[in-house]
Amino acid sequence: MDFDFTPEQMAIRKHMREFAEREIAPKAQMNDREGKFDWDIAKKIFAEGFLGCPIPEKYGGLGQDYIAYGLMTEEINRVCSSTRTLFSVQTSLVALTILRWGTEEQKMELLPKLCNGEYLGCYGLTEPEAGSDAANQQTRAVKDGDDYLLSGQKVWISCGSIATHALVFATVDTKLGHKGISCFIVDTKSKGFTAQPIHGKLGLRASDTSSLFLDEVRVPKANILGGEGNGFKVAMSALDNGRYSVAAGAVGVVQGCIDHCTEYAMVRKTFGKPIGEHQQVQAMIADMVVECEAGRLLYLRAGHLKNKGVRNTLETSLAKLFCGEAANRAGHNAVQIFGGYGFSDEYPVERFFRDAKVLNIYEGTREIQKIIIAQDALGIRYANGQPSGRPTALAGASA
Ligand SMILES: Cc1cc2nc3c(=O)[nH]c(=O)nc-3n(C[C@H](O)[C@H](O)[C@H](O)COP(=O)(O)OP(=O)(O)OC[C@H]3O[C@@H](n4cnc5c(N)ncnc54)[C@H](O)[C@@H]3O)c2cc1C
Repeated sequence: MDFDFTPEQMAIRKHMREFAEREIAPKAQMNDREGKFDWDIAKKIFAEGFLGCPIPEKYGGLGQDYIAYGLMTEEINRVCSSTRTLFSVQTSLVALTILRWGTEEQKMELLPKLCNGEYLGCYGLTEPEAGSDAANQQTRAVKDGDDYLLSGQKVWISCGSIATHALVFATVDTKLGHKGISCFIVDTKSKGFTAQPIHGKLGLRASDTSSLFLDEVRVPKANILGGEGNGFKVAMSALDNGRYSVAAGAVGVVQGCIDHCTEYAMVRKTFGKPIGEHQQVQAMIADMVVECEAGRLLYLRAGHLKNKGVRNTLETSLAKLFCGEAANRAGHNAVQIFGGYGFSDEYPVERFFRDAKVLNIYEGTREIQKIIIAQDALGIRYANGQPSGRPTALAGASA
């Protein structure tokens, strides 16, 4: 086991920390207050090439590994969850999915422009009646010559209104269950495609979340990603990468809470001394630090397996569950440490508290992660297709 980062991984982490502090952090609070997707920040991210972090250079990416990608994601989320959403959706849910499932033609056409921000993607799986039960897709794909006509509705789609291309999951026959589903790459300028932003969100206010409406949207058969009938597999593999970035982002929330709280706790005084000298405040900070370190190790282990090309659904699920929960506990305690000031948006911790909630809702709720983990442990359904996780964690250890 090697717990050291490579010089390249450390350099990219430092670069991202500096970029996030300089370009994102100063505007994060105001953007959240105004519910504004900040195109200036987005364009700076595009210009840096960050969106292509783990995409091979051949396709216009930075050619970095999953550890570097996780560290970058964590650093962005250490200052702003809304900005991290853009990064994660574009990279994990869309570009990496095209990299995994696309034909060479699809990859050459789409990936360079997704890496430089000329194209923006969204991932359209969730529907009014298909959230946790994702196989219950009602969006219909009707064959028409060499094309398909897509009709239906998607909800809660991150970046749905700003995307140039949507991955839309649709079924040829609802009775076929997951076997009837295909994934279509849809140009959002297509006739019959509309997006409507959702307002009044608890958190992620500076990110776009939209409903998508498809009314006989014509999509060439050549735009199917991963082959006809493989849409559910495509969707689940995308979530393996999406959950990884959610886990890394969640650790960023925890780290952000630690950084703000440790600074505040040594300045704010009660009973004649800094609140950081009161044991109950120290206990909250200690909990955050432990969970931050543990969460980081969990997501990095998943990243390590991704680098090796080993199936990692279980390890990613463990990281997503733990880190999402840790971020919620850290947000909760951070507001507590700030007392009354934590209840106002004068300080960032109330935003961290609100933004953390979605981490145990999207990309498979907390309960869905527990089902995956428990079924694996019980041998009911192995998340990685075969027994793994706990036994392999000890593989190579001498008795
Ligand atoms: C801000 C935001 C952004 C999002 N972005 C995207 C996106 O980009 N693309 C996309 O496709 N989707 C996106 N989603 C949707 C998200 O993935 C779904 O909301 C999530 O999967 C849960 O589905 P649901 O809302 O329909 O809840 P439901 O599935 O109705 O679940 C409701 C509750 O019941 C619980 N539950 C359901 N089934 C079980 C079970 N079998 N056992 C135990 N408990 C269960 C759930 O855990 C949850 O607590 C986003 C959501 C939000 C809030």
